[in-house]
Amino acid sequence: MRDIGHYIGGKTVSGTSGRTADVFNPSTGDVQARVALASADEVRAAVANARAAQPEWAAQNPQRRARVMMKFLQLVQDEFESLAVLLASEHGKTVPDAKGDIQRGLEVVEFACGIPHLLKGEYTEGAGPGIDVYSMRQPLGVVAGITPFNFPAMIPLWKAAPALACGNAFILKPSERDPSVPMRLAELFVEAGLPKGVLNVVNGDKTAVDAILTDPDIMAVGFVGSSDIAQYIYSEAARTGKRAQCFGGAKNHAIIMPDADMDQAVDALIGAGYGSAGERCMAISAAVPVGEKTADILVEKLIPRVESLKIGPSTDSSADYGPLVTAAAVKRVRSYIDKGVEEGARLVVDGRGFKMQGYEDGFFIGSCLFDEVTPDMTIYKEEIFGPVLSVVRAKTYEEALSLATDHEYGNGVAIFTRDGDAARDFTTRVNVGMVGVNVPIPVPVAYHTFGGWKRSGFGDLNQHGPDSIRFYTKTKTVTARWPSGVKEGAEFVIPTMG
Ligand code: NAD
Repeated sequence: MRDIGHYIGGKTVSGTSGRTADVFNPSTGDVQARVALASADEVRAAVANARAAQPEWAAQNPQRRARVMMKFLQLVQDEFESLAVLLASEHGKTVPDAKGDIQRGLEVVEFACGIPHLLKGEYTEGAGPGIDVYSMRQPLGVVAGITPFNFPAMIPLWKAAPALACGNAFILKPSERDPSVPMRLAELFVEAGLPKGVLNVVNGDKTAVDAILTDPDIMAVGFVGSSDIAQYIYSEAARTGKRAQCFGGAKNHAIIMPDADMDQAVDALIGAGYGSAGERCMAISAAVPVGEKTADILVEKLIPRVESLKIGPSTDSSADYGPLVTAAAVKRVRSYIDKGVEEGARLVVDGRGFKMQGYEDGFFIGSCLFDEVTPDMTIYKEEIFGPVLSVVRAKTYEEALSLATDHEYGNGVAIFTRDGDAARDFTTRVNVGMVGVNVPIPVPVAYHTFGGWKRSGFGDLNQHGPDSIRFYTKTKTVTARWPSGVKEGAEFVIPTMG
């Protein structure tokens, strides 16, 4: 049995709390490792270690910090294959999909290589007589990231890379379900030249999270996970005076207009609905065809495609998707499917009876497709996070638009149409943070920002792109006057530049 501890001060250390969690191989159902769950004291020690290491890192010029990012990119490339296999073995996604997880993370590291440019402040010459004003961006100190199971490489990198490039020390609390890749990424950062202690990984559960939230030396918390916990972390961070950005769950709609290329839309829905077994915060879970005819064509085309999806263990690169992450996840998804049937939705493809031959104890579930789902149903209101797509028939474009706009989640949305005017109206009016036009999973590129609205995101700054630099730095603004005039006497009226 492999034991996974923590990564603190540039080395792996064993847990001392006596508490552990099982890490499964979702394809076989076997426990493959035990991960330590940190106590509050272990978190405190990791933060103290990071705090001691941070000033020296912040004092390195930004070009040097960028070089660490560049070297890290190369080291990850060198072991891309084995990292993807490791990731897939704990998460359950297929190896090609695991490569995408790593690649999407690396793209934010590439963005962070531009840190010398990104950290440049603003300057106004002659803001008043002999007065210049300039601003600079300084690191916050020690910051923390709490990340979910579904992207164990991408999301830790989305947080750590900009935070570190800005000169902060970073405490990562990854998901206890798939901790091995985050641990290895931290080792590779140190191998790339990051001073020891600047990136510490503390494994754990709510105890570790609460210790992070109350630690006086942690200045900011970035979270990604389910919405109730995102809101809890956001409010606790506010209570303890920390900066916070907390991203939550989703119910992403795809609107299919009558003029859409139906084959393209079906392809998009299959990939975005069932890829990674639907365990993506940007998965499409509600397909909204506009008009009965569009709906009939769509469902007719979807059924054979959903029925023929290939499910396999994470080692089968030809599989469309693998198992869910845990047995508890399978139970939760199954109960949603049962509930959908109970509430009157039409289950036109029923994957509940699926068994993976040779992997009978794995956490597999077959693909499901619901038709005639209505907005009052639980399967529409809540996030299922499994290979289940719901077709919600809308009579008009306005009805489809308001479904996406009125839903409590607002992460991603897509419209499929050939009409530029409809697309433009939709992108302007929809109350959702990320919008795709004939693009099913509109995850923005690394140099733009990622963030959902409503219950999909708490906080005002998004992840990666320019917002990440704003989040991980504080702005200092200097008003300077040289050299004469200072001794002319006290000023009792608030200075104006007029
Ligand atoms: P989760 O909320 O269960 O866990 C996320 C993190 O919070 C983990 O590190 C976990 O250890 C910690 N945690 C769990 N319970 C806690 C508690 N009671 N108190 C404090 N911390 C706790 O989420 P998950 O199951 O790992 O991930 C799936 C969820 O994440 C889905 O809802 C998905 O939509 C969401 N997600 C959102 C985005 C986004 O960008 N909006 C991206 C990926 C995933």
